[in-house]
Amino acid sequence: MSEKQTPKTETFEFKAEMKQLLHLIIHSLYTHEEIFLRELISNSSDALNKIRFRMLTDRDVLDADVEQKIDILLNKDSNTLTLTDTGVGMTRDDLMKRIGTVASSGTLDFVNELKNNDGPVDAQMIGQFGVGFYSAFMVADEITVDTRHANADSVGLRWKSDGSGSYTIEETKQAERGTTITLHLKEDKGEFAEDWRIKQIIKKYSNFVDFPVHLEGEEVNTVDALWQKSKSEVKEEELNEFYKFISGDFDDSMGHLHLSLEGKVSFKALLFIPKKAPKGLYQEDFKYGVHLYSSNVFIQDDARNLLPDWARFVKGVVDTEDLPLNVSREVTQNSPVLAKIRQILTGKILGMLKEWSVEDSDRYDNFTREFGMLFKSGLSMDFDNRDQMLELVRFESSAKEAGEYVSLEQYVDRMQPEQKAIYYVLAESRQAAEMNPNLEYFKANDIEVLLMTEPVDAFIAPSIPTYKDHDLKSVETSDLDLKKSKKKKGAPTKKESEGILDRFKKVLGDKVEDVKASDRLVDSAATLVVGKEGMDTQMERMMKMMDENFEGAKKVLEINLTHPLVINLIALRDNDEDGSLVDSAILQVYEGALLSDGSLTSPQEFVKRMTELMVQATGK
Ligand code: ADP
Repeated sequence: MSEKQTPKTETFEFKAEMKQLLHLIIHSLYTHEEIFLRELISNSSDALNKIRFRMLTDRDVLDADVEQKIDILLNKDSNTLTLTDTGVGMTRDDLMKRIGTVASSGTLDFVNELKNNDGPVDAQMIGQFGVGFYSAFMVADEITVDTRHANADSVGLRWKSDGSGSYTIEETKQAERGTTITLHLKEDKGEFAEDWRIKQIIKKYSNFVDFPVHLEGEEVNTVDALWQKSKSEVKEEELNEFYKFISGDFDDSMGHLHLSLEGKVSFKALLFIPKKAPKGLYQEDFKYGVHLYSSNVFIQDDARNLLPDWARFVKGVVDTEDLPLNVSREVTQNSPVLAKIRQILTGKILGMLKEWSVEDSDRYDNFTREFGMLFKSGLSMDFDNRDQMLELVRFESSAKEAGEYVSLEQYVDRMQPEQKAIYYVLAESRQAAEMNPNLEYFKANDIEVLLMTEPVDAFIAPSIPTYKDHDLKSVETSDLDLKKSKKKKGAPTKKESEGILDRFKKVLGDKVEDVKASDRLVDSAATLVVGKEGMDTQMERMMKMMDENFEGAKKVLEINLTHPLVINLIALRDNDEDGSLVDSAILQVYEGALLSDGSLTSPQEFVKRMTELMVQATGK
């Protein structure tokens, strides 16, 4: 490509994390290492899409009329594979910033995955991490990139590295626009210089690239827009293959939608829901996966406004004829056409989920397990679809085993005859929820409680005030409409009860909002519940995580007056000379309740007092 090299060759060191990544890539064992080719072809296809897009409005580029394609040449004698595209090419800055450095947060995840793996690593997962270009070091011991950018004033550049610690950049006399990647294959990777093998790999992973791929001059892929075909023309196999191509996933999808609509807006769409939540789904830089095309021309691969945020796990393609020809990213951001498409797509996705929930509960449970948390978060944002979404959210429940789910509708159908509210408990885990003393009344009375154990629940639950005229209530609130427990034998008299409650109030002072007799406790002596102003403990915890100065409101301490400890305290109250034992026990009961809901801040004092109490208890 470059007949004469300019003498100036600059050498650059890779950054430390890049060195580490390359070292791991070069020295790990893989299955499916052929994936490197998919990554290179996909980079070329991106580069071709970029130039095609630019030329919609600007034809003042190098080689404006050259065919847009990818060429692969093999040489068994020199053990090389060469891949050339007529894409947008790279500037010096691109080479240094994009090829020379670790870009995405996913790369570090990949490093960890490689480090923690004992056996061979499945290279198919590379698609999920965005290490792209560097995956070629799985099979090559030296990589050369020759490139020239589409800008008319660009220069030819050559980037070269053996992946061990540094790379070089030099100027070349390259005349044509585009990029050529030359892999010098490792000695034992000669298979990737074999025609049949490369053809097989292209068929398997890159069949749906938007541009022709030529191998030794022969076109090998089917440049074929599946979404343009009618449903009956598309085979299940092709759908799976296309899904894998577009998502980088190596499993089949959980399900798909194939749409062709004509009306106020016309568009075609092929959308998939993955079987597993993709990596980084909750991270800020998560890449959305619906590709937008305008009359078969690729516009953008991370169209955010085609779906609501809660559906960001959806992968696929939307192709419409209704966008202006000179679409830009700005146009796509507030296009009424896309807003309309989004509305239709959202409805269709909800319809599909509804269908699964009715006809295929295993599939729907799987959806809930993988995406339920994100889906639920939509309840507080997507108000247009809230009613439909309320029917589709699922929760764990005291009436079900761990890992099983119920809908609000199922809950309401099972409610006790006099039960008015839907009850839920917020907790960090199912186990913590089940141990919450505030649940004792509900267990004893056979009332189902929804167990909300995901972080978003603390925000979601209060945002659903009612479902079918039933209030949603946290079992931690103080104003629950509970049946008064029947007066048990040995229960204290009214006077005794008032006396001990007063003593609690005196000892605890302004640590609590109030002290009350409890109707909800069966086995525990005391519990803390939300007072007039406060919020659930779990909600408070979330607030504290976001704002370290956040102070929760005071709680109400509820006392189980029939608990043996309380009965003992009533008896002791009159005989205890200086009152110190009763007071210590009261503090201990209060702090014990704090401890069990996870809010005790001074465990040292608690333990010290407990030791003193044990000394007294064991000394007599
Ligand atoms: P990713 O493709 O996920 O961005 P890569 O490491 O594969 O990560 O590529 C890094 C960047 O290098 C690309 O985003 C692109 O800017 C540039 N690049 C790679 N290959 C090419 C190519 N054939 N033509 C133009 N640019 C390329």
